[in-house]
Amino acid sequence: QTSFLSLMHQFIQFKMILEIIPNVTYYKKPVFIHQGHMQWLWDVDGRRYLDLFAGVATVSVGHCHPKVTAAAEKQLRKLWHTTNIYVYSPLHEYVDKLAATLPEPLKVIYLTNSGSEANDLAMLMARLHTGNFDIITLRGSYHGGSPQTMGLTSNSAYKYPIAIGLGCHNTMCPDVFAGPWGGSHCRDSPIQTIRNCSCPQGLCMANDKYIGQLKEVFATSVPSRIAAFFGEPIMGVGGAVQYPKNFLKDTYKLVRERGGVCIADEVQTGFGRTGSHFWGFQGHDIMPDIVTMAKGIANGFPMGAVVTTHEIAASFGRGVHFNTFGGNPVACAIASSVLDTMKEDGTQQISHEMGTYLLMGLSKIRDKYEIIGDVRGKGLQIGVEMVKDKASREPLPPAAMSEIFEDTKDMGVLIGKGGVYGQTFRIKPPMCITKDDADFFLAVFNQALNNYMEAHH
Ligand code: PMP
Repeated sequence: QTSFLSLMHQFIQFKMILEIIPNVTYYKKPVFIHQGHMQWLWDVDGRRYLDLFAGVATVSVGHCHPKVTAAAEKQLRKLWHTTNIYVYSPLHEYVDKLAATLPEPLKVIYLTNSGSEANDLAMLMARLHTGNFDIITLRGSYHGGSPQTMGLTSNSAYKYPIAIGLGCHNTMCPDVFAGPWGGSHCRDSPIQTIRNCSCPQGLCMANDKYIGQLKEVFATSVPSRIAAFFGEPIMGVGGAVQYPKNFLKDTYKLVRERGGVCIADEVQTGFGRTGSHFWGFQGHDIMPDIVTMAKGIANGFPMGAVVTTHEIAASFGRGVHFNTFGGNPVACAIASSVLDTMKEDGTQQISHEMGTYLLMGLSKIRDKYEIIGDVRGKGLQIGVEMVKDKASREPLPPAAMSEIFEDTKDMGVLIGKGGVYGQTFRIKPPMCITKDDADFFLAVFNQALNNYMEAHH
């Protein structure tokens, strides 16, 4: 079977992949995946990869996790679909379980099929509830690719020259490594950046400076009343950027003073990915008005959700909101099993322990190589920012990034890339990895850096 697939692979790969489905491929030669199990993927030639990207932080408990697969199979034999104009037990069991993971007053749930759809819905809710239009996001963030959410997204790679983003504004991303302010003690991470804090000793001004930028957006770009602020607890596509302590807390206060609601985009950071908390926002001492989620919610099965308060739901409930596949019985059975499995497998604890272990290991590697500027993150949401040299902190150019990336893949590990300039390696594996996997990756990554340095310096 493998050799047949292998032949097929040789025959169609460029024709089909590049002409028929012109999708994104990170690699020079597309990796043709055949099968997955937990933290492992196999290609059509039978090569095994340690998957440290998890389909962009999506496979939460492991590829084809046996318990989740069994739950899916059971539901597939019983009921595939009705619409949610009826009641059916997988839906009702699931929303009960999901609501229990969130604090009061976040108790009303709308199910969608993707993160973009969830963020679209959240934008609409915020605008209807507040009667205001303008929305603020962080520069460098990604919140979706639909025409509405493309306006929230602040990364030109994902923008098209169409009339998008009416009423969407960006404030400076409070990036304490690449930004003008902040440094070693600004953020909440098991490890610190090597950049010394640029603030006077004992007096961290970074947060005030970045909040000052937000105030400038209020003064220059938006009317006095706004609809919402959208922010991820730790930036995902933007490169695992962590903000100074209190940045989100202070932002929420200012946004609410201007009539806006606060939206936490937990598409990547939810479901235990940050390790210390089940929801990323809980690590910031804040309470959002709306939380959006997708990716890890159903371990890779298409699903998303918006969770909000009864008050906001009441403003939204004046119209009819309908979504054919939202709350699909199979998706609900899978998502329900994901929550059970997370408890049984101790997924959040693994994320916390393995995340901290990887961050410690990566920070040692960072200290060895001039081209690693920063290692950051929490739990299994990790970023390694690559630079030309530590002093300039200029992004490592794409060709160099690609060389290290390809080499890492050739040695059997899949990681991701991100950041506005594609300068950050992203590590966000299925949350079932072991210490052996972490050690294997650290050895492979160290070797890839070594190979690059020997070839170019
Ligand atoms: N928000 C965040 C933070 C994301 O990372 C993504 C996807 N990368 C989205 C929203 C959009 O999700 P989807 O691709 O499921 O539409």
